[in-house]
Amino acid sequence: MSIATQTPQQVLETVFGYPAFRGEQQAIIEHVVGGGDALVLMPTGGGKSLCYQIPALVREGVGVVISPLIALMKDQVDALAAVGARAEFLNSTQSPDERRRVEQALLAGEVDLLYLAPERVTVPATGQLLDRLNVALFAIDEAHCVSQWGHDFRPDYLALSMLHERWPSIPRIALTATATQATADEIVARLDLGAARRFTASFDRPNIQYRIEAKNQPVQQLLQLIRSEHPGDAGIVYCLSRASVEKTATALAEQGIPALPYHAGLDARVRADHQSRFLREEGIVMVATIAFGMGIDKPDVRFVAHLDLPKSVEGYYQETGRAGRDGLPSTAWLAYGLQDVVQLRQMMDRNEGDAAYKRRQSQLLDAMLALCETVECRRVQLLAYFGQSLGVDRCGNCDTCLAPPESWDGTVPAQKLLSTVVRLDRERRQRYGAGQLIDILTGKRTPRVEQLGHDSLSTFGIGDDLNDQEWRGVVRQLLAQGLLAVHGDGYGTLVITEASAAVLKGEREVRLRREPKRAPRSSRRSAP
Ligand code: ADP
Ligand code: ZN
Repeated sequence: MSIATQTPQQVLETVFGYPAFRGEQQAIIEHVVGGGDALVLMPTGGGKSLCYQIPALVREGVGVVISPLIALMKDQVDALAAVGARAEFLNSTQSPDERRRVEQALLAGEVDLLYLAPERVTVPATGQLLDRLNVALFAIDEAHCVSQWGHDFRPDYLALSMLHERWPSIPRIALTATATQATADEIVARLDLGAARRFTASFDRPNIQYRIEAKNQPVQQLLQLIRSEHPGDAGIVYCLSRASVEKTATALAEQGIPALPYHAGLDARVRADHQSRFLREEGIVMVATIAFGMGIDKPDVRFVAHLDLPKSVEGYYQETGRAGRDGLPSTAWLAYGLQDVVQLRQMMDRNEGDAAYKRRQSQLLDAMLALCETVECRRVQLLAYFGQSLGVDRCGNCDTCLAPPESWDGTVPAQKLLSTVVRLDRERRQRYGAGQLIDILTGKRTPRVEQLGHDSLSTFGIGDDLNDQEWRGVVRQLLAQGLLAVHGDGYGTLVITEASAAVLKGEREVRLRREPKRAPRSSRRSAP
């Protein structure tokens, strides 16, 4: 029986070898097979590919898949060929001869699925080619790339609105694992999908254990995580900069962990080699910037670690979502510190972009900080960010559920700290970061303290009831709560905010989260 005369259920079984659809796959597929437009929001690993692959096979003609993941097209086409589907791709890595061969096959009606790089869509020759084909559907994968606010913005995606203008009768299905209302609305607006039916899957990933802890000695903390809970496991470690990627990969390798670096500054061949080793070998730890990961289909990534704070909850969710696609217990672990906040705020200040853009970036960071500092269930808060509810107050599989953090009254320490900031600000001679503040509060007569006469400030030594690390926690949490801010001077100087006044006047209580002394142990690797 030819594929084209089969039902979606039959294609699922005979071509892909699966007995049943998952979640909303069937409804989505039937809608698209029937010629409707669809917007599909489904988490990583949820099974988005079948949602366009099966309609492409069932409907007559070729299904055209727009995907930004050029490096993965060959793998995707090979995987489809392995199950007997006729797939091809067209992108800039091909020779003209190769492209001509694909075009011949398309014109001969010998292709079920065509993967197309977004930058090829606007090439006139592509339009002429598509005009001559019987196109079954357009699938726009990683549709959030159209969002200019997002971290994966691809300018070529903006041109995809022309698909509908030029071929209005061909159904479109846009898919993404980015779930915020704002992103979904932007996709609808930019791709003209107002009439599309929206399918939203639950974004809960119950097998991922979310944990966020204070960053002290990040590499040591990471080693502890790997050795005690994930020895020999494959994992991804995200760092903000190329330099810290290199440094961390080297440090892990020196400790006998098979770690490889990945960032945009590496030679393309090195990157491709590291990626393929990560995919094919067991137990590789990829240390990477966020340049790595989109579209990587490795089911058994057991942990995703962040050594620097992601810029948004969306980014955090995407990156952690690469753990545990196989549904088995996995860890999402983030170490975050005061310096992260200062650094990200400075990066935002330096960023090009208008005031609205900066405000928006700052709001995204605030939401990420709120997730870090919450005493509530991380999963509940994460899902709430995407407008979803878990139906219970506590998930039982995140650090705050496993070891509920205590909160304490930090009003007095906050007042001590804020009044020191005010006193230093009055001097107006120099600007000071957190280190100098903490030295003053804890009464340390460092050369700098003595030289600047800070030991004669009335707040000198009034905070010696807390140690340096505890003070750093206070500063970090005040930053997260908007009771302190980073000045735009490029030096990381801390300044008070409008909201600080109420604290200084004793009109507002400050609740702080007490950092657990020891990270909670994962529940899965209990003693034999
Ligand atoms: P996404 O693109 O949403 O991240 P994929 O389409 O790559 O997810 O699917 C994730 C994994 O789940 C793949 O290994 C895929 O083969 C598998 N999968 C998808 N749908 C089903 C199904 N109905 N039954 C069994 N496995 C499925
Ligand atoms: Zn929880």
